[in-house]
Amino acid sequence: MFATLSDRLADTFKNLRGKGKLSEADIDATAREIRIALLEADVALPVVKEFVGAVKERARSEEVSGALNPAQMIIKIVHEELVTILGGETRRLRYAKSGPTVIMLAGLQGAGKTTLAAKLALWLKDQDKTPMLVAADLQRPNAVQQLQVNGERVGVPVFAPEPGNGTGNPVEVARASIEEARRKLHDVVIIDTAGRLGVDETLMQQAADIRDAVQPDEVLFVVDAMIGQDAVVTAQAFLDGVGYDGVVLTKLDGDARGGAALSIRSITGKPVMFASSGEKMTDFDLFHPDRMASRILD
Ligand code: GDP
Repeated sequence: MFATLSDRLADTFKNLRGKGKLSEADIDATAREIRIALLEADVALPVVKEFVGAVKERARSEEVSGALNPAQMIIKIVHEELVTILGGETRRLRYAKSGPTVIMLAGLQGAGKTTLAAKLALWLKDQDKTPMLVAADLQRPNAVQQLQVNGERVGVPVFAPEPGNGTGNPVEVARASIEEARRKLHDVVIIDTAGRLGVDETLMQQAADIRDAVQPDEVLFVVDAMIGQDAVVTAQAFLDGVGYDGVVLTKLDGDARGGAALSIRSITGKPVMFASSGEKMTDFDLFHPDRMASRILD
């Protein structure tokens, strides 16, 4: 991801090398190239406009200090503005003050929720938590089984409806899982909910019902970063229909252009909290805006 954007930005900065001072024309040309690079990376237009505007304004007003030449100054500004649109600080999980922390996952089918649930469980285990996974996706055949397989891979128990009761009520399953977690002293509960291929009312309602029933500490919207601008549209629909506290970007290992990752925070106002970047259970971590910005500019 971001390969083309990185190359394009590198070319842009190269053009500034050797310049002792930036003219208005240099700044305009640079701004134009950054704009094209971001648009080609599939970044949402309002985000591009805001970004380029900020870079331009800062490039005009900031004095070239002794230590940095104009090219380095622009790189520094772009880096800082990238960190800003990516969310600034790393947003960490908020744990419940008492009782189990309840994390609910929502998103479209195929977004990578079930995989992510297990990755998150493993990550929590590594932080000395005792998580439990909950199979509240009773829509998709095999979803329960898939979560059980993934749970086994990471050594985390899965709470699921009784076999043969696949048409059970996901709200009841979610509710019962919290009781089970209290009984068995799990300190984090991760609820995998049903997704569909597209945004629809029933899906939103079910997720909203689960949310109301279990009052999660964190609702995480899981989205496939490979789907580009559609990710932003879906993110907005889930924000309106279910609401969430943070975003998890999956499939960051793909060769998509990166627009979703760069747009989603500005468009939804919600922080990207985690990034999932591969098929291995350990391909997962907190999302660090500064590291991501550095990766783009490397
Ligand atoms: P769900 O329908 O949202 O539960 O999605 P799944 O967890 O079943 O994932 C859908 C597909 O995407 C599966 O084939 C996963 O192996 C794959 N997948 C999930 N996360 C990642 C990731 O971070 N990178 C890659 N390359 N594939 C992923």
